[in-house]
Amino acid sequence: MDDGARHVWLPYAQMKTAAPPLPVARTHGSRIELADGRSLVDGVASWWTACHGYNHPAIAAAVRRQLDAMPHVMFGGLTHEPAARLAQRLCALLGGGLERVFYTDSGSVAVEVAMKMAVQYWLNRGERRRTRFLAFRGGYHGDTLGTMAVCDPEEGMHSLFHGLLAEHVIAPLPRDAGSLAQLERLLENHAHELAGILVEPLVQGAGGMLMHGPEVLRRLRALVDRHGLLLIYDEIFTGFGRTGTLFAFEQAGAAPDIVTLSKALTGGTLPLAATVANRRVFDGFWSDDPGHALMHGPTFMGNALACAAANASLDLFEQEPRLAQVQALSLALEAGLASCAHLPWVRDVRVLGAIGVVELDGAFDKEALRARLVEAGVWVRPFGNIVYLTPAFTIDADDLAFLLDAVVRVVRGMGDLARRAP
Ligand SMILES: *Cc1c(COP(=O)(O)O)cnc(C)c1O
Repeated sequence: MDDGARHVWLPYAQMKTAAPPLPVARTHGSRIELADGRSLVDGVASWWTACHGYNHPAIAAAVRRQLDAMPHVMFGGLTHEPAARLAQRLCALLGGGLERVFYTDSGSVAVEVAMKMAVQYWLNRGERRRTRFLAFRGGYHGDTLGTMAVCDPEEGMHSLFHGLLAEHVIAPLPRDAGSLAQLERLLENHAHELAGILVEPLVQGAGGMLMHGPEVLRRLRALVDRHGLLLIYDEIFTGFGRTGTLFAFEQAGAAPDIVTLSKALTGGTLPLAATVANRRVFDGFWSDDPGHALMHGPTFMGNALACAAANASLDLFEQEPRLAQVQALSLALEAGLASCAHLPWVRDVRVLGAIGVVELDGAFDKEALRARLVEAGVWVRPFGNIVYLTPAFTIDADDLAFLLDAVVRVVRGMGDLARRAP
């Protein structure tokens, strides 16, 4: 491991100064077993993918069966039962008229496809000027060049590339009368050049774990309808139970025209993403003109192993009380994190579904905080000013108690790390 490690380029890290990554030997349940023998309780479920915990035997068995039958075939001109069945199930679960699934292999690419679909939807109708999107402050939609441009340009992690990126319209979420009026003004000025509006429903994840109410989505749907635009929900973070319903938008009763899914789609086992469109969008491509086809097709599109894993994950949502577990987890996170709220270096504590957030105030030593969490026996990886918990829905009572106790202890004891901004 040591020999090879110096050839690996790590994500989101200044490698010269960051602590080296921890070698992992095994995972199970909500546990990460380190190569040095330490065991960590995982508070983030590997970027909130492993919703059933690690190594769920039902997903492992389904992947093994699929591996023997057929790991992968190209999706151009060929198809297979796991992909077809998964598409049918996703559409049935999503409802809202969403009925066509385009597979990709990462969340960023699923968003790229959604953007491409929306722009070409207008091109196919002869509208050549609708090439921009309206997205929101605090938003995060991926790391590729197309998706970086719809992240929050100020707060996000991609401000460096400003000049390279397409210029979209970045607006405040319509949380109240003031921000709604601001958004309405932006739409008056820009609606004619917009393909659509792109939003993470209920929770803006990697942009700061910012939450908003379902009325925000209803306002967006009404505005999109008034201006005849397309509404795109990025449910890559929120999808598959994380906010308390299978999909976050169910809580608003306001369906999108296109939705993106990934992260927990395969229960944290294999990379897979989906962009799902409604009939209106799909019909925009249905034509005798070959030039109206969606010209996209990732090499590993519809990977059979990943589709088998996703089908097994959906089986678990059907067979086991996942949403009830999310509800119980939500209450436990609220009760557990509440005692951080009054600390002078804590700005806010908030919980939605199985997402618990402690937002810190001012500057502090992030590396030291991360190290203390590991020393306390938990895997929690704060970013920016955000300490967040997105555990597996199946985390057992002992591990959850240990996790909450450790996080609260570290946050309460971090007064010496917090340097309030001047
Ligand atoms: C993680 C994430 C993405 C990007 O997914 P990748 O698989 O990392 O490319 C996009 N949107 C949201 C909301 C996400 O949470």
